[in-house]
Amino acid sequence: PPPTLLHPEKWCRGFNHFISQCLIKDFEKRPSVTHLLEHPFIKQVHGKDMSLQKQLAELIQEQQQLGSVAKTRHERIHTRRPYHVDGADKYSLDDDLVNLEVLDEDTIIHQLQKRYADLQIYTYVGDILIALNPFQNLSIYSPQFSKLYHGVKRSSNPPHIFASADAAYQSMVTFSKDQCIVISGESGAGKTESAHLIVQHLTFLGKANNRALREKILQVNPLVEAFGNACTAINDNSSRFGKYLEMMFTPTGAVMGAKISEYLLEKSRVIKQAVGEKNFHIFYYIYAGLYNQKKLSEYRLPDKKPPRYIDNETGKVMHDIITKDSYGRQFEAIQHCFRIIGFTDEEVYSVYRILTGILNTGNIEFAAISSQHQTDKSEVPNPEALDNAAALLSIGSEELQEALTSHCVVTRGETIIRTNTVDKAADVRDAMSKALYGRLFSWIVNRINTLLHNTENGMNIGILDIFGFENFARNSFEQLCINIANEQIQFYFNQHIFALEQMEYQSEGIDATAVEYEDNRPLLDMFLQKPMGLLSLLDEESRFPQATDLTLVDKFEGNLRCKYFWRPKGVELSFGIQHYAGKVLYDASAFLEKNRDTLPADIVVVLRTSENKLLQQLFSSPLTKTGIFCTTLLTFFVFQVDTMEVMRHPEETTNMKRQTMASYFRYSLMDLLSKMVVGQPHFVRCIKPNDDREALMFSHERVLLQLRYTGILETVKIRQKGYSHRILFDEFVKRYYYLAFKAHETPLGSRENCLAILEKSKLDNWILGKTKVFLKYYHIEQLNLFLREV
Ligand code: ATP
Ligand code: MG
Repeated sequence: PPPTLLHPEKWCRGFNHFISQCLIKDFEKRPSVTHLLEHPFIKQVHGKDMSLQKQLAELIQEQQQLGSVAKTRHERIHTRRPYHVDGADKYSLDDDLVNLEVLDEDTIIHQLQKRYADLQIYTYVGDILIALNPFQNLSIYSPQFSKLYHGVKRSSNPPHIFASADAAYQSMVTFSKDQCIVISGESGAGKTESAHLIVQHLTFLGKANNRALREKILQVNPLVEAFGNACTAINDNSSRFGKYLEMMFTPTGAVMGAKISEYLLEKSRVIKQAVGEKNFHIFYYIYAGLYNQKKLSEYRLPDKKPPRYIDNETGKVMHDIITKDSYGRQFEAIQHCFRIIGFTDEEVYSVYRILTGILNTGNIEFAAISSQHQTDKSEVPNPEALDNAAALLSIGSEELQEALTSHCVVTRGETIIRTNTVDKAADVRDAMSKALYGRLFSWIVNRINTLLHNTENGMNIGILDIFGFENFARNSFEQLCINIANEQIQFYFNQHIFALEQMEYQSEGIDATAVEYEDNRPLLDMFLQKPMGLLSLLDEESRFPQATDLTLVDKFEGNLRCKYFWRPKGVELSFGIQHYAGKVLYDASAFLEKNRDTLPADIVVVLRTSENKLLQQLFSSPLTKTGIFCTTLLTFFVFQVDTMEVMRHPEETTNMKRQTMASYFRYSLMDLLSKMVVGQPHFVRCIKPNDDREALMFSHERVLLQLRYTGILETVKIRQKGYSHRILFDEFVKRYYYLAFKAHETPLGSRENCLAILEKSKLDNWILGKTKVFLKYYHIEQLNLFLREV
């Protein structure tokens, strides 16, 4: 039975879940009411609950009368066809907010609340999908559901994440054009889960005869997320990196490969986590796995007190590692992923050595040696930790100590060795751990790409799942980067939904009512502009050795004179930003250090001497912040926010050695956008219905806030009034001439021919502009269907 059912007070909450499990597993095998009522779980837990038994019996009998395949109550809701067909298919009032007659916040929220209570977590806003996090497992993602959402009219089924995947797939196959699914929402809203479901459905749609390849693709997300996700105060499985997964298809639509790009892994988590948070999942998985296999001593890990990097002062970690069955199972799952994707045993072994090497590195301590002449020198008082780390990283222990406690300086052609203070040595140790983990992560991603990449020509569907907007009690440099990235995604959404649409109306001479929306462009400028944007100022300050975090905040205050920035009184290192999603107060401590993200050359030199080939390889590329990842990218882009054009900008490539996190961040954002702009976008907006992660709980306030800042109300309006598809006459005629002309004819891409096609297809509400046909979001589907019928 599902765990929630073990608590009787949670029975109601688990009701749907339970019924789903029960009916699907048992009833489909032996569809008899008696059998279901005899189910051991029902007998054991609710044997005396006559009302439940009655409900089940009624449900099943009703379905038997209908002669349908067994469906749960939930499935029934989702497979019913509640649409009011009126001539051409229209969306039901329920399923698409665009159909609401009264368009105000109250009506929209009421509608969503009503649907959520019914476990209808998906709702359309025209072609955009809103997904409310159900905070419970629903039985609507089974293969039966995949079949339901396969190349059918969208209005044939209730809204579903599979329908969005299907729309992207159909669009790719029909128009031979790359697609891009942008999933957004705050932390814990359900982006990563949605991304998984999209991949699941796309592998189904792209029915790779090649089962092995399908299996491989399905293992990519779990593997990458074990290394890139962690438990935060908001989400137990929070993405700590941005991920753009491109699934590649042949021209006929069969899956042929995949490619993953990772952005901005939060490396600082390796060395320190906030109270109540954890390190990356993989550390706990591997610890539990090695414990179960009785291999902890081989990897020089203690079985009493866990290493400092994963201990986080809770004291509970070791207990969890030993007793939590799930960690051990996850370790096995990860081993399985490695195997299926095609990593060799040797590679996996090297990965484990590096991971455990990092854990041991964290345990190296430093103490001051105070002699008469040398007060700033440090030594390692626990040499066993040093030996352990060196052994696992396959490097010399003395060389490691040397690199941690001293550094070389070249002055006037002479090399001088300077000693490190205790604090400096600890910083170098942590910088080494972060670099090891960051480069290992990039290597894993690259390796997956090599194993799954297909160089044949084809098309792709990209799925963007980044870390969501964050606002913690204490927000640092990482939150700033995460929130700027979200700001950029919101801008991209606005551009597509509002700005481009309205610009086109004007240029095509179409009189369409403009919809007001919150443009976050000024805010993005405040962050990204050169030379006076926040990131540039941060870089400039990072170049001054004497600068401190305080001088940095002073600099921000002196230069960022706009309403989005403020500095609270009385808290020196604090500054506030009014983001599109709300006000966030940042603590600038360690901003400069995090931005500089320096890794001393002495450490690189030692790590390059490693006998572990993988480790050697990680550090053999030129010394840059981004490691291997950066060297694989040969071109650099600057995104022109006005025109949505991506231009090459060669000077960005200069002086990679001095690259800071801020400049790498800016570059990553541009790289991501450059990938996204080539595809036709599809949007999934995830919404978190409550902060308690409770099923069926709908916080009016929280949902309203998210609807407001994501501009859903305005989106509903523009989708209702606007024309989301604008196709050049020539293109329109090429695509749809079959509808009005003979197959052998080659009609001109003229206005008249477009008119002929439109009239023949009997659509209404379209407009012809000066050079383009303007269509409503639902026209495209109808036209495609007509095409198929022809
Ligand atoms: P972050 O920005 O922190 O990475 P996120 O938006 O990716 O957050 P998810 O990790 O996808 O959030 O979702 C948080 C949790 O919500 C999941 O671990 C899962 O328990 C639950 N959840 C989300 N979507 C679904 C769904 N469709 N069905 C069941 N549970 C879900
Ligand atoms: Mg996520």
